[in-house]
Amino acid sequence: MTAYRAWADIDLDALTHNLGVIRHKAGAGTRIVLVVKADAYGHGAVAIASHAVRCGIAALGVSTSAEALELRSAGIRVPILVLGTIVDDEAVDALRCDVHIALHSGERRAMLQDLARRLGVRAKVHLKIDSGLGRLGVLPGRAIELLREIRRSSHLELAGVMTHVSSGEGAFAASTAEQARVFDDVLRKAREEQLLKGWIHMANSASLFTGLRPRYDTVRPGISAYGVLPSDLPGAGDLRPILSLKTQVVFLKDVPHGTPVGYDSTWTAPHSTRIATLPVGYNDGVPWRLSNEGAVLVRGQRARIVGRVSMDYPTVDVGHIPTVHVGDEVTLIGTQGHQTISVQEVAQQVGTIAYEITCSVGKRVQRRYVGGETIVLPSQEAPAGPWTARLPRDVAAPLEFESLPTWTDADEDRPRERR
Ligand SMILES: *Cc1c(COP(=O)(O)O)cnc(C)c1O
Repeated sequence: MTAYRAWADIDLDALTHNLGVIRHKAGAGTRIVLVVKADAYGHGAVAIASHAVRCGIAALGVSTSAEALELRSAGIRVPILVLGTIVDDEAVDALRCDVHIALHSGERRAMLQDLARRLGVRAKVHLKIDSGLGRLGVLPGRAIELLREIRRSSHLELAGVMTHVSSGEGAFAASTAEQARVFDDVLRKAREEQLLKGWIHMANSASLFTGLRPRYDTVRPGISAYGVLPSDLPGAGDLRPILSLKTQVVFLKDVPHGTPVGYDSTWTAPHSTRIATLPVGYNDGVPWRLSNEGAVLVRGQRARIVGRVSMDYPTVDVGHIPTVHVGDEVTLIGTQGHQTISVQEVAQQVGTIAYEITCSVGKRVQRRYVGGETIVLPSQEAPAGPWTARLPRDVAAPLEFESLPTWTDADEDRPRERR
């Protein structure tokens, strides 16, 4: 009998592997900002970030200052960048915790300068340029002026210049080439005026895996570290999924032909069969749209979800698997025996993107971290692989990542109290 109703096994060795692949794609000397926003896409930000730092990740990217503070409170000291924007009530905490902030307007520049002056700190900002996503970011025509304003701001430090790619196809899309051209144009003008400082970054996972050039000195992968790519891009097969979503059979019932099952009786047993009930639902990340569509794995075989997925107790037809018992482990995402249900398969079935599937693994789902004794090999040569190594147990046990080597010039970027 399994203790949990629903749990997610997060394979840290698979994370190591993926970070090795990312390291290889990025090339030696390229700074990796691992994106761990939204609780590391549902995988648990503190555990993911801690392990990634041990693997030599230079910095972390988050969405909100609360996410940055959660990592700081957990003792993570590498630079953390709020990728999007902060709202006013986040600003004080963000500055106090030495969090890098993406900046996208003159108004925000003035506000941060004023606040940093009052707090007696220098705010580290990354100028975000809207090169074609049309969301956050300053329009290219205003970028140089804003860079000049930042240089004149006594309590602001330009820590980077960034832009964000719109296409899920990365460098394969013409729009990405146009975005790179717009971004490059701003960089060239900024360089001419000697306004450039800090990290230059554009590439997310899709761009990194499609070989976006130039790569600049920093990349910001997220989903690829979790073993998934946003579309069918080359290199997808090199990644290993790190999440398995599991539950157990809590009830079995033999039903006669014609028995309606689940809310609104959307399914009726076409013959006598056996129905297993699972203690997990759409609140836990099992999409409602899997009703009468999805499958799970039990005893190494596929079993169909029949009837409506509910908040807590979906039902599965296990009539063809006579050995099923109450307490049997059920895999909703992951591998059992020779069968696999991937995040992409579920996403496709319900008409969404993989990101939404992992992000919606709910609060009630217990995260269990397995592995974590491997790290990525720091290498200036970017060998053809293997890129990972096993740590001795005594090094692996506590998360003493501070003593482990990191690449690039991350040392420069760490908060001062570390030295
Ligand atoms: C989420 C995000 C990323 C990471 O994107 P992936 O597609 O998950 O690699 C990179 N940069 C910014 C600004 C983001 O918001």
